[in-house]
Amino acid sequence: MNSGNLQTPIDYLKGVGPNRADLLRKELGIHTFGDLLNLFPNRYIDKTRYYKINELQQNSAEVQIVGKITHIKSVAQKRGKRLVADFVDETGKMELVWFRGHKWLKESLKINEPYIIFGKINWFNGSFSMPHPDMELLKEHQKNMLVAMQPIYPSTEKLGNRGISNRVIIKIIQQVFLENKKGFLETLPQSLRKELKLISKTEALFNVHFPQSAEKLTQAQFRLKFEELFYIQLQLLVKNRLRKQKIKGFVFEEVGEYFNQFYKNFLPFELTNAQKRVVKEIRNDLGTGAQMNRLLQGDVGSGKTIVAFMSCLLALDNKFQSCIMAPTEILATQHFNGLLEWCEKLGITIELLTGSTKKSARKIIHENLESGELHILVGTHALLEDKVQFQNLGLAIIDEQHRFGVAQRAKLWKKNTIPPHVLVMTATPIPRTLAMSLYGDLDISVIDELPPGRKSIKTVHRFDNNRLKVFRFIRDEIKKGRQIYIVYPLIEESETMDYKDLMDGYESIARDFPMPEYQISIVHGKMKPADKDYEMTRFANGETQIMVATTVIEVGVNVPNASVMIIESAERFGLSQLHQLRGRVGRGAEQSYCILMTGHKLSNDSKTRLETMVKTNDGFEIAEVDLKLRGPGDIMGTQQSGVLNLKIADIVKDNQILKTARFYAMKLLKDDPNLEEKDHKIVRYTYNLIAKDKTIWNYIS
Ligand code: ADP
Ligand code: MG
Repeated sequence: MNSGNLQTPIDYLKGVGPNRADLLRKELGIHTFGDLLNLFPNRYIDKTRYYKINELQQNSAEVQIVGKITHIKSVAQKRGKRLVADFVDETGKMELVWFRGHKWLKESLKINEPYIIFGKINWFNGSFSMPHPDMELLKEHQKNMLVAMQPIYPSTEKLGNRGISNRVIIKIIQQVFLENKKGFLETLPQSLRKELKLISKTEALFNVHFPQSAEKLTQAQFRLKFEELFYIQLQLLVKNRLRKQKIKGFVFEEVGEYFNQFYKNFLPFELTNAQKRVVKEIRNDLGTGAQMNRLLQGDVGSGKTIVAFMSCLLALDNKFQSCIMAPTEILATQHFNGLLEWCEKLGITIELLTGSTKKSARKIIHENLESGELHILVGTHALLEDKVQFQNLGLAIIDEQHRFGVAQRAKLWKKNTIPPHVLVMTATPIPRTLAMSLYGDLDISVIDELPPGRKSIKTVHRFDNNRLKVFRFIRDEIKKGRQIYIVYPLIEESETMDYKDLMDGYESIARDFPMPEYQISIVHGKMKPADKDYEMTRFANGETQIMVATTVIEVGVNVPNASVMIIESAERFGLSQLHQLRGRVGRGAEQSYCILMTGHKLSNDSKTRLETMVKTNDGFEIAEVDLKLRGPGDIMGTQQSGVLNLKIADIVKDNQILKTARFYAMKLLKDDPNLEEKDHKIVRYTYNLIAKDKTIWNYIS
């Protein structure tokens, strides 16, 4: 093959000696020609524009000037020295300043020879200076390839100190192209390129570094982003396929007595279409003989519990046990109580296991699990203990998945020689595109429909000075027999202050809603779990009308009679948290309300969050806004996932390209599962090359 080999180590490149090679490896992780070409510019600057010194403004950003150094001197200052050069053109004079690398600079800077300098301008005491300019002798510059848009590369302080400036990187990259005039191996099939009008790999690489025009740059970026996302999707899809082929799961062939009986006789309400669809998806999975690994997303209140229960019945019909794991004791208890009633009707055994289960009860549970007498076990982390052994665990359901780590999931898997089917349920909607990239190896089900008759929660934003009106509203609701949540933020850095806010708030509410007419509960993170549970239970039983709390109540508690959620300092909460909190109300038949209280001073992001909450109840829509506001870095679970290691694509901004890439990756694998067609060989070759690369495997494991 005549095309350039991107695997060649950078040491072989002219102009890159052992020192530079070492620096590039250590500082930027660049080992090969390919790595070098994948060092994509952060941005481009217009190099057709030259400034004169007398044109400079105090707010000039980055400028390019032609002039000469007339004098260099060292100036002592408190910490070390600084090197200062007088720089002149025909219109004026300014200073160039260096804080580092003096020895090398003094030896190499030429006096009275024309330079092109480029950099940020500082203005101080009536004169301009440029610290650490990017510079090149004018005559050298004229010898080089001329580009209108100059790339600005990512760099590190060390690289700068050791003389590897942006200009040097440009030269090195130009050298790669000079030494590979025939171009580089194409990585996408001809047919695909034609269909999507993608420019060639070589043309794309060249134009992303040295754009011939703005249009070419756009084409180049599109092609490279597509390629990056395409290969990630391909890997996820292949991995998913491998899992299904390799990891044998229990086959739940029977849809038997328990499932049918429940469906015919005991269904407490008609399932929504979304619930029906999801039950079917799960049933299909369980019947295939491959291990199920499914993520079930459904907004708060969408009815995930019954889907979980029916899945347990499918397991039981095939003589398998199941477990349901929840992140807190309160939630586990709620699940247990809810399911108990259904289980009793069907004659199924179910138990609850948490940290506070008594030793004697625990022992019986352990025994009944091992003998197979116990069908369904509900609990907290306590389920993960080694002592908990099942006779034949066929299905593990994890609720509110983001509170559990991967390691914990793995622990559940090991409860059997064959891993159980796994259903992960989450009420934190993850935008579909992000889910695709994060969990591309999981199958995803979505309950995108709320049970009928649910009144949508009315959400309003009120300023603090309207508090009296809000209190009046609360009083009216309580008169109607409703209950109220009032939530205060608790953010770790200012815990003591937040705690004070909470207590102040509590006292003022206690004054406005005096005993014995009103009973108030308070729950916060500093309380003992037993005290928390006591207060929660009082509220749940209707013994108190107002629950003053921090976000500890965020997840899962179900008090259908509570119809008002007041969120204090709402501007301090993130969108997904606001949405979760709001989900605590609207669980009963009554109209529910969410009141977002804030002061008058609000940032733009806060305003957007509040407006979004007022506008919509749709968790997925909210998640999309959240993703746009915060970027994927802060969204739950993305930190470790590697989606942030993308080299050129941006998971949020390049959403559309991601969808296209996924579509074509799926199509390719469907048309030619083993990538054997002539036109697809190149994909197979590239895939193997990438897949061997550890850092890229991180995307998906
Ligand atoms: P989540 O998805 O938040 O876990 P749950 O499973 O707790 O939601 O369901 C919320 C409430 O809605 C429960 O009281 C449940 O009984 C009820 N529910 C669930 N599905 C339906 C349905 N199809 N029709 C009517 N009510 C339903
Ligand atoms: Mg739930």
